[in-house]
Amino acid sequence: MKTLNKPVPPGGTIGIIGGGQLGRMLALAASRLGLRTCIYNDTPDAPAFQVTDQSVAAPYDDLAALTGFAESCDAVTFEFENLPAHAIAHLASSVWVAPGAQALAITQDRLSEKTFVETLGLKTAPFFEVSSAQQARDAFAKLNGRGILKTRRFGYDGKGQAKVSSADEAAKAFESFKGAPAILEGFVDFEYEASVVAARGGDGGFAAYDPPENEHENHILRRSTVPSRLGAAKAEEAKAIARRIGEALDYVGVFAVELFVAKDGALLVNEIAPRVHNTGHWTIEACACSQFEQHIRAVAGWPLGDPARHADAVMENIIGAEVDAWESLSKGGALHLYGKKEARLGRKMGHLTRLKPLTKA
Ligand code: AMP
Repeated sequence: MKTLNKPVPPGGTIGIIGGGQLGRMLALAASRLGLRTCIYNDTPDAPAFQVTDQSVAAPYDDLAALTGFAESCDAVTFEFENLPAHAIAHLASSVWVAPGAQALAITQDRLSEKTFVETLGLKTAPFFEVSSAQQARDAFAKLNGRGILKTRRFGYDGKGQAKVSSADEAAKAFESFKGAPAILEGFVDFEYEASVVAARGGDGGFAAYDPPENEHENHILRRSTVPSRLGAAKAEEAKAIARRIGEALDYVGVFAVELFVAKDGALLVNEIAPRVHNTGHWTIEACACSQFEQHIRAVAGWPLGDPARHADAVMENIIGAEVDAWESLSKGGALHLYGKKEARLGRKMGHLTRLKPLTKA
């Protein structure tokens, strides 16, 4: 496995696997630091291709294309977590890759992720492995009447999830996943959702952003607001949870920990995202160093930047046809459009961040 012996200097090239909006905003941040980017995406129309020095359009398991890509990069990272393990191992044999294969393997699978979180002594919703319809029924019997069946892999924005309120429904939901391994989670009657976006440097340095409060609509993030309702002590507790997780994964780069805030104030870990995160987009305008710059710094072996917030912020996603109102939206705050051609239903087309004077440090 290749390591990074010295920081990638300005003029060096950061490789980014995945050419969606996260790859695009990473490339823009890298460019501001004088770094070049090479984006790898499995289709030729990637939003990030519009803003990068070099690009490769090839399947994610095309080892020859990955080799060529690795040769043109000084460091490689990801905008999404689902690259096949053998492809990651292939890349890591010839170029420094961050985050590492182990962090990706654990977080790609909901069962290994939640088990890992539990072994750290952190709280999660109750969860059970489900590999058969019978197991779905048995697991449901251990919950108190409501649960969510989730595929172990490849779920996002509510895809591969079903709410269930009986053993029969749990068994049927499992069958509708066509045999895909799953977990059944107890339904958490949370007060609200929050997240911590944090970074670890190659030297073990740690930096966390203030945790935003997050609202979802139709399983898609609608809005992130900082400060959240957590208050200073709980916000520190949330950051400490992220630190535990980052250290245990020996993580390098930015990651996010999604949390449920229970009615009694307890913080339950829902999910770890091994990448920059939608709930951290507000950091572009509200912080000295955005999550995108922070990730590039970590991957390139640079010192981490200052995550301090100099403003309150509300970030709203622009979803599907909402983007048609771009002209009036542009009057309302910092508008980011991702350069996607088709405004399909549920597709993230951009986001808008509004700043307000800082109320709490
Ligand atoms: P996930 O894909 O696991 O991040 O779930 C997407 C969203 O579904 C979360 O942000 C919650 O709003 C909701 N959700 C997921 N798991 C649970 C749960 N165990 N209890 C209640 N709501 C949940």
